[in-house]
Amino acid sequence: MENIDWKNLPFGYMKTDYNVRCCYREGKWGELEISSSEYVMLHMAATSLHYGQEVFEGMKAFRGKDGKIRMFRCADNARRLINSGTYIRMATPPAELYTEAVRKAILLNERFVPPYESGAALYVRPLLIGSGAEVGVKPSSEYLFLVFVTPVGPYFKTGFNPVSVMITRDSDRAAPLGTGHIKVGGNYAASLPAAAEAQRLGYSTCLYLDAREKKYIDECGPANFFGIRDNTYITPKSRSILPSITNDSLMTLAKDMGIRVERRQVELSELDAFEEVGECGTAAVITPIGKIFDPQNGRTYDYGETAGPVSAKLYHALRSIQYGDTPDAYRWVTVVE
Ligand SMILES: *Cc1c(COP(=O)(O)O)cnc(C)c1O
Repeated sequence: MENIDWKNLPFGYMKTDYNVRCCYREGKWGELEISSSEYVMLHMAATSLHYGQEVFEGMKAFRGKDGKIRMFRCADNARRLINSGTYIRMATPPAELYTEAVRKAILLNERFVPPYESGAALYVRPLLIGSGAEVGVKPSSEYLFLVFVTPVGPYFKTGFNPVSVMITRDSDRAAPLGTGHIKVGGNYAASLPAAAEAQRLGYSTCLYLDAREKKYIDECGPANFFGIRDNTYITPKSRSILPSITNDSLMTLAKDMGIRVERRQVELSELDAFEEVGECGTAAVITPIGKIFDPQNGRTYDYGETAGPVSAKLYHALRSIQYGDTPDAYRWVTVVE
């Protein structure tokens, strides 16, 4: 695309040419449809609008040095969308339908896949919403599955530089037995007050603790948390944490680099002992955390002004697989053609 400033793309929405849609009605999925409209026509009583019957995914497609477009762990995102939707009693698209819709959405908007050199990527946003009219609280009998794409630059404008985050105890993103483990819009609604408060005080996002005891580390904004110490990658385990595919990939890479991996409850008090900490997710891969502020005692944990060596090594290892620079030893990548 001649007019796009690829190197300075924000992490935001940009109109592309097409999106792909499929409707579920009378107990079955219809045909995939291609649309050039940015809007959905929705019944005003749709369950997604009133009762949060909505799940989504976030993936990226990358253009390699060879010009080929690669998508990363698409089958895992398909599985997660199906899990999310099933939990809140939605009809879900079969994995093959999911993959085909994503593939079509990428190919139809090929001119928006950023060039290799830019370090940008094509963000893919599949969503599934209850579209049938209900007034009582119950699952819809109709669903819309839609995939749109938009080119994005790095999630954080500062790039691979540490951010500062703030611990929150004033609100919870997810309840202990709630919906934290699935990718539903409601979790994001619940996260907005703490994120807004953190940003008002100059922090990039907030660090959530477990909802019950405020003793263990949960998620960091809309991303998973990890810490590095004594050549060990440590990431919290909890039913309220969304199973990040990026985190899973980093754990695999870490093991193969000879780094021990622990996925377990992580006490807040362990922050003292970490040499590096970071957050991870599709949007940024890894965002190193430089400072964590605890408003309860006014303490700041300091991890330095630059990304630590283990975070940097993991970040580059994952990115080079995504862009096709190193062989895809784990079969995580699908060339889109
Ligand atoms: C999507 C998401 C993540 C990151 O998952 P990835 O699969 O790595 O993109 C982490 N936490 C929350 C709450 C999320 O919604």
